[in-house]
Amino acid sequence: MTTCIFCNIIEGKIPSIKLYEDENVYAFMDIMPLTKGHVLLVPKKHIENIYDFSAQDASKLFSIAPRIANALKETFQPVGMNLLQNNGAPAGQSVFHFHLHFIPRFDENDGFNLSTWQTHEKDFSTEQLQVLADKIKIAL
Ligand code: 5GP
Ligand code: ZN
Repeated sequence: MTTCIFCNIIEGKIPSIKLYEDENVYAFMDIMPLTKGHVLLVPKKHIENIYDFSAQDASKLFSIAPRIANALKETFQPVGMNLLQNNGAPAGQSVFHFHLHFIPRFDENDGFNLSTWQTHEKDFSTEQLQVLADKIKIAL
């Protein structure tokens, strides 16, 4: 048995509340939901994070995302929806099999809080942003 919890879920070795499955992806209810309707969408292949995705595998996964989001919208009529995806432990990744979180939002007190999201525009002038962009473009 693999040590990856999501591979075990996909293979049916660990139970999950499945929503959707096709050749490439698997969607299921998060066991510790941040809000009502918190869903995870994962590739069936063991892909650890965004860096390890091929464009083809990524497009297969992301092509399903609007369908999941619309199903949640239709079912629960949330007033908003956060899609979240963590890469690396410092970014909050705790399961090292890529997963896209769908977090329906109902109001400011719905259990999910992004209030610690602080912007740093004062630290980066337009000129500095251009320098950063030029560096990123070299890697693209
Ligand atoms: P991360 O912190 O890596 O972005 O998110 C991992 C998510 O996986 C968490 O929201 C957590 O609740 C969920 N999770 C962890 N173990 C299980 C499990 O065994 N079953 C299900 N359904 N979700 C899990
Ligand atoms: Zn895995």
